[in-house]
Amino acid sequence: MTLQDRFERPLRDLRISVTDRCNFRCTYCMPREVFGPDYAFLQRDAILTYEEIARLARVFVAHGVEKIRLTGGEPLVRRHLHGLVSMLSDIEGLQDLTLTTNGSLLKAQAQGLRDAGLKRITVSLDSLDDEVFMRMNDSGVGVATVLEGIAGAEAAGLSPIKINAVVKRGENDHTIVDLARHFRGTGHIVRFIEFMDVGSTNGWQMEHVVTAREIVELINAEMPLEPAEPNYRGEVAQRWRYVDGSGEIGVIASITQPFCGDCTRARLSAEGQLYTCLFGVRGHDFRSLLRGGATDEEISAAIAKVWKVRDDRYSEIRTSETASLPKVEMSHIGG
Ligand code: SF4
Repeated sequence: MTLQDRFERPLRDLRISVTDRCNFRCTYCMPREVFGPDYAFLQRDAILTYEEIARLARVFVAHGVEKIRLTGGEPLVRRHLHGLVSMLSDIEGLQDLTLTTNGSLLKAQAQGLRDAGLKRITVSLDSLDDEVFMRMNDSGVGVATVLEGIAGAEAAGLSPIKINAVVKRGENDHTIVDLARHFRGTGHIVRFIEFMDVGSTNGWQMEHVVTAREIVELINAEMPLEPAEPNYRGEVAQRWRYVDGSGEIGVIASITQPFCGDCTRARLSAEGQLYTCLFGVRGHDFRSLLRGGATDEEISAAIAKVWKVRDDRYSEIRTSETASLPKVEMSHIGG
């Protein structure tokens, strides 16, 4: 029987963070003032091994999970990630395995990931303007490095390639159309994401949000768009295609048009805490179960117990007050 939460949402997607570390310090995710040299990242023995992750993933797939996305931090900073990809791609019943990366280390790893069984990939790239991009990632990595990573992924046969851009008013909104124009006709899909109040360190305010509607209007003014049908129920991005057939873009309207009603995602942090919402406060400890000798049946029962009482719908009840409440950092559980 399909596992359902309190709002009858099935458990279909699992996002697995393989590390809380990242080589970027994006101002909206891991601001340098907080994640500086003294920040206490997880120690190696605190994070789940690849074998532990694969075991948990198998139990999740048996519960109906069809799609797994590897995240971080930045997943490619963890050594031999292709080893984990290989283990996960062997899981029977798993239909989709993908990964979100900042692209800076992708060029060297793309072929290995593809050979290990990865089919597609999402690369974060907030702007094609070097100055804007480097100000946002605060780590000295320029656009060219990420574009080389994307080219490497394409050459390795990863497809489709999605490009995620977080849009923050006054920061990179003047570069939206350039980004769309650059990838139009390449087969890659740019997805523009409304700036969100993730974690408790990014200083979110509603004035920072450029709405999905505004984004579509901006692009449409130069390159006419028409709405496209979702690929499946619960798809996070709204699809828009170019009228001339040169491709499509997506907009993720997490602030202005929340999609909690169809949210089938669970998130596993690098140290094995399970969260049932991106804006969760408290995780559920699966590392203790794994390391305490629990059987697969016991782990399965623990997943069911967490999911059945899930009633998260943060984006539907967001206010300026909830935005400042403590939440798990995005670098801890991926986006
Ligand atoms: S706010 Fe939570 S429940 Fe709503 S869509 Fe995002 S992750 Fe899902």
